[in-house]
Amino acid sequence: MDKEEEAQDTEASDLEQSINWYQLALEHLMIHNRNWNEMASPGGLKIFVRGEGCYITDIEGKTYFDAMSAIWLMNVGYGRKEITDAVYDQMRKLPFHPHSQTTIPPIKLAAKIASITPGTLSKVFFVSGGSEAVETAVRISKQYQQRLGFGKRYKVISRRGSYHGSTYATMSLGGTPAFNRGDFEPLLPGARHVPQPWCHRCDYGLEYPDCNLQCAREVERTILFEGPESVAAVIAEPVSVPAGVAVPPPEYWPMLRSICDKYGVLLISDEIICGFGRTGKMFGTEHWNVVPDIMALAKGLSSGYLPIGACVVKSEIAAKFVGTRKDTFSHCFTFGGHPVTCTAALANIEIIGREGLVENAAVMGKYLLEQLQRLYQHPMVGDIRGIGLMCAIDFVKERKTKERFKPEDRLEDRLTQKFAEAGLFLIGRDLTIIMPPLIVSRAEIDELVSKLDSCIGEVERELSVG
Ligand code: PLP
Repeated sequence: MDKEEEAQDTEASDLEQSINWYQLALEHLMIHNRNWNEMASPGGLKIFVRGEGCYITDIEGKTYFDAMSAIWLMNVGYGRKEITDAVYDQMRKLPFHPHSQTTIPPIKLAAKIASITPGTLSKVFFVSGGSEAVETAVRISKQYQQRLGFGKRYKVISRRGSYHGSTYATMSLGGTPAFNRGDFEPLLPGARHVPQPWCHRCDYGLEYPDCNLQCAREVERTILFEGPESVAAVIAEPVSVPAGVAVPPPEYWPMLRSICDKYGVLLISDEIICGFGRTGKMFGTEHWNVVPDIMALAKGLSSGYLPIGACVVKSEIAAKFVGTRKDTFSHCFTFGGHPVTCTAALANIEIIGREGLVENAAVMGKYLLEQLQRLYQHPMVGDIRGIGLMCAIDFVKERKTKERFKPEDRLEDRLTQKFAEAGLFLIGRDLTIIMPPLIVSRAEIDELVSKLDSCIGEVERELSVG
């Protein structure tokens, strides 16, 4: 930086320091899925300004260990110069391209994704995020069924408790009560919901393995009830995070695969959180050697450095969109295949490979789950589960009955506040999801667990549990 630039920078920061950023945010910014009054309450809004490794610093200068990887995506950690340099170079060289053409980064990225995804998954449609990736997967499924001559196959089966995005189609497929679906009804026709493989709170009140996988069998029963000739696809996350890191029994995904094959229904894996190493495998369904027909990717694809998503399709499915012009897949977003976002994703995948972050997630994930076991000394810890660097703590009033806390107990506020005071960025809920960046070390896990331990102890005393 030369003298003149330095002077300008100091001037800019003096100006910035005189601004009340909280006030300005409250006046103008609609933060996604956030209640205004909660945001306006003391300590309700944090403004982050810097990040390095697993740590983020807010505008007040307080540093937090990011136990959520921002929003379950900061796989390679903050401050990666390789990504920012690559993005800077590409932006200077060519920030975008003319209509209906392409550039080198999306070609390279598509080939890279094809080389790391299993089976014949090899054709990639780029979008700007997870909702668009799932929306695309649904539209490919429907148009593919049309191409096969099954024009009436329009229904899509998903699971209660899952989250697939915020567009109309993806919201309709989602099943999380937190998203006020009712306010937006009527939703997408043809969305059908089945139970999750959430063994910790089984919808049937059964226990694995005596349950005989009723949750998977329900998918087949639903296809038969609706009529196989009306169902286009089944969509599921390999492990659903909003359903509380519901790690399915080993038979579950192979059963989904064979049910879909039996009825000519496409199987879509929503890998938006699980993908790119989070579960200790590059992609979640690899734990069960299942190859879905379509994969939806986002989040960890660029570790959030720039917004990008993708839909990866088996070559035999993509082949149905070749033919004549009328066979073209009718779908397009202006920013799909953006050269700069694709460059960020390429640099990110390169880091994941070079630093062995998938393996680190497996090893550190095992260590994290082992260390978390000591939290069972707290009666309000009902269950702890996880796979890779994706863990959940289920908080309950009483372990035996699994009774939840009541809204008046203000569990979420209490936990989140204690975590923040202890220097943890982590939203505390009935189901608290712990997902540190994949670069996390043993020492950082020790510190995380010890802070969780003391915060939970304090909340337990406040609520007189145990
Ligand atoms: N699918 C899953 C499993 C997700 O977790 C999310 C977002 O959290 C989405 C889809 C939607 O992604 P986005 O918020 O990038 O649109």
